[in-house]
Amino acid sequence: MTLDADLRQRIIQSVADGFDDQIAFTQELVRMPSLRGHEHPVQDLLHRSLQSRGYAMDRFQMDHAAIAAHPGGSKISDDHSDAPIVVGIHHPREEAGRSLILQSHLDVVPEGLHDMWSDPPFSAKIDGDWMYGRGAGDMKAGAAANIFALDALRRIGLQPAATVYVQSVVEEESTGNGALQTYLQGYTADAVFIPEPEEEMLVRANVGVLWFQVQLRGVPKHVREMGEGANAIDAATRVTAALRQIEAEWNADKANHRHFENETHPINLNIGKIEGGDWASSVPSWCNIDCRVSLYPGHSADDAAAEITDRIAAFAAADGFLSNNPPKVVFNGFYAEGYVLEEGTEAEAVLGRAHEAAIGAPLKSFMTPSYLDTRVYALYNKIPALCYGPISRNIHGIDECVSLPSVQRITAAMALFIAEWCGLEACES
Ligand code: ZN
Repeated sequence: MTLDADLRQRIIQSVADGFDDQIAFTQELVRMPSLRGHEHPVQDLLHRSLQSRGYAMDRFQMDHAAIAAHPGGSKISDDHSDAPIVVGIHHPREEAGRSLILQSHLDVVPEGLHDMWSDPPFSAKIDGDWMYGRGAGDMKAGAAANIFALDALRRIGLQPAATVYVQSVVEEESTGNGALQTYLQGYTADAVFIPEPEEEMLVRANVGVLWFQVQLRGVPKHVREMGEGANAIDAATRVTAALRQIEAEWNADKANHRHFENETHPINLNIGKIEGGDWASSVPSWCNIDCRVSLYPGHSADDAAAEITDRIAAFAAADGFLSNNPPKVVFNGFYAEGYVLEEGTEAEAVLGRAHEAAIGAPLKSFMTPSYLDTRVYALYNKIPALCYGPISRNIHGIDECVSLPSVQRITAAMALFIAEWCGLEACES
């Protein structure tokens, strides 16, 4: 059922009518510092918000054994969150349309040095068209949009004529195990929609991501005997150079990967954290290097992990110090493969119409070089996985912010998408 022009206008107007409340709710989410392992309060808020709207509620923990046994499961380290996953379920009176999952994640990445921010990182301050704060764009604005797109339909007496699951997960920024757990729990639908900050475009292809830690160990010495001491931090600089070579080789292979051939640098290796040594006057006996690297869709996580491990072993074997102290490579987070959204799905056509009605321009698609939970739905649920959301700036950086006019536009596009994808029925009064 395509929507007639009058209904489309009523839906867009209804999103506008609820937008002040939507902004206030987004601010409430942003003010909660839901860093890894500290997402319980924000998940509770989401639960209350969905429950108060009358959705059937589910809340569950991650099943570590089931995640470990699944090929898409990432490593569960000591830092892994134990916050619950929250699902609110809309049941229609009559199941007439196509079912849908609206997913978001409420974990945020560390805010960095506070004195580099113009305002405190969890202020949710609004300045002109922008709302600032860690997680404002990635992706608390999207989490609110999931709820308020459905509210917009209710405000005009309508609701989806199919089951809709509103799923709020954690661990998106470190493992992707939250989204995987919803799959392991049995949740699926005819399509999934995740409003990550994607500049009002649809994600066509997305890389996989691996996290790993290279652990170097040396012989501790006083600096006066430094010639005899093996310096683990010096060794780390040699290892990172070897890792940059793998990155260069993978980038040089881009012509063989559809959707990536025109990207300048599709594969990014990030040396994210280095920790080592104990004292300025002691030769450091240890150094750990935390890394994140991306993979083309189709490159298996196992193969990529083996390549990295083998390459570091080969480099170490040829290095005077490291050959006596071979480094250890530990995969301690993301172990996720990439995906491609194949062209020509009905879900994409429906989003194209919704986008055009809400935004007034044709829908564009693009490749993203960072991890997305849509991979779970594309690779394992095997359903159309749409990742599409608002314009943002500086996600994972300093002064992260999201464009509020853009949030309103994409919420309207989402409400129109839901209306056409699921069909509509009158609300129960
Ligand atoms: Zn995100």
